Amino acid sequence: MRFAKKVSYPAILAIPLVGGAVAASWSSAHITRSFGDASAEAPGTLGSGLDPAAGAAAGAFSVVPASGPAAAAPQPEQVAALPRASLLRLPAQGEIEALEEAEAPPPPVTRQITVARGDTLMKLLIGAGVDPAHAHQAVTAMEPVYSARRLMPGQEIDLAFAATGTASDTASDDLGPLLAINFRPSRERDIEVSRTHPDGDFAANAVDRPVARQLAYAQGTILSNLSVAARQVNVPNLVLVEAIRAFSFDVDFQREIQKGDDFEFLYEIFVDEDGLPVRTGELLYAAMTLSGSRTEIYHYERDNGDADYFTPEGTSVRRSLMRTPIDGARLSSGFGMRKHPILGYSKMHKGTDFAAPRGTPIYAAGNGVVEVAARRGGYGKYIRIRHGSSYKTAYAHLHGYAKGIKSGARVKQGQVIGYVGSTGRSTGPHLHYEVILNGKQVNPLKVTLPRGDKLKKDELAAFATHRAEVDRQVSIAMGGILMVQKACEEAEVVEQGSATDREC
Ligand SMILES: [Zn+2]
Repeated sequence: MRFAKKVSYPAILAIPLVGGAVAASWSSAHITRSFGDASAEAPGTLGSGLDPAAGAAAGAFSVVPASGPAAAAPQPEQVAALPRASLLRLPAQGEIEALEEAEAPPPPVTRQITVARGDTLMKLLIGAGVDPAHAHQAVTAMEPVYSARRLMPGQEIDLAFAATGTASDTASDDLGPLLAINFRPSRERDIEVSRTHPDGDFAANAVDRPVARQLAYAQGTILSNLSVAARQVNVPNLVLVEAIRAFSFDVDFQREIQKGDDFEFLYEIFVDEDGLPVRTGELLYAAMTLSGSRTEIYHYERDNGDADYFTPEGTSVRRSLMRTPIDGARLSSGFGMRKHPILGYSKMHKGTDFAAPRGTPIYAAGNGVVEVAARRGGYGKYIRIRHGSSYKTAYAHLHGYAKGIKSGARVKQGQVIGYVGSTGRSTGPHLHYEVILNGKQVNPLKVTLPRGDKLKKDELAAFATHRAEVDRQVSIAMGGILMVQKACEEAEVVEQGSATDREC
């Protein structure tokens, strides 16, 4: 079922994350520098006169009436149209007129420099023709906002110099004093160090760039393992990790996944004004169909602010104990009778062994209190945690203990308590893990572990509303996928909700 590629729906599902707030503050941050900026380039050389952000800035000058187009609530498209570097934007018509009335200085001269390995910003600035005293002032002004030491090789930096007004801006010997430094250390942030007068003080600003929230939907079929299948439909790694965590209470990813099993993820992505993904957000919904049996989970933020994944019925997917308190390990020996690898005779194996490289972190399987963190005979370095009144978990053959892990320490589920090793009676690095129920070791992979919280009446109603909205978005996404399928199967008429496993 290869047709189910990641599909995003900006037109239907795009929601401005920051809405007007950032657009507005961006504009006002901008305005304070607008006179200097407006002369950054000769009018008409860059940008477009339709730039709504320029309009917004002009509006704040009272040159354009507040009822102009910029006064309307910012739309996602508007947010997306903010200029890349404010220094290089074209001034709005109103600003040009304002500038012509005032005595406009000649446009600054711009230069771009690129950070190379071993460069310091001071050295780069001086190399680009900046007066050493001015370079020092600018770098000092920048420090509280962005440390020059964080600049990475390859970073491009725009510089603006006052023009001497005599020579062309391609010569390097007519550079006046430095006016501004502009760069973008991440897709989400612009840094600007500038002054409005050649003899003024530098001021530094970090400007968060507007990002828009979009929803993406991915669906696929597993041929070998989930990671490979998810990558094939462009699921970001963080989303995949979140999905594996969320399902880990119900699914043993090492052994329960079969060829032909199916997954669906609905998740958030944040894109910049160019539509490029900046980062991923929450995994909002996930479904896995394993051997024909479907499990769905919904991300939901509770009244107390805790976010968790819930079943459609409103029960937390979180179990009080994890079955596998380690990431990416291979089950090397199960619970039950076996021939002991060292002792040579058949013996009951009262735990589960997970082979993993030495040093692999081991997690507390649940919230609890450490009872033992010490060497114990054949177990080697050993930890036992008490979880409530009936359950305990034990971890053996550790290489070492995590910081603060000692008898009496309180631990949270998922907290690193120690590291895989081969201490005690062990043939190689592995974790021996036991779940102890009422004093007796039980098979951690088989024992029915208690579920987490179920939402109470009021919260359950809010959850049901949330769930209906997520379901609606999933069905929109499904509709989109079927349309994609239609496009490549021309004559086929595909009904929504059917024929989901055709090849395209
Ligand atoms: Zn063992």
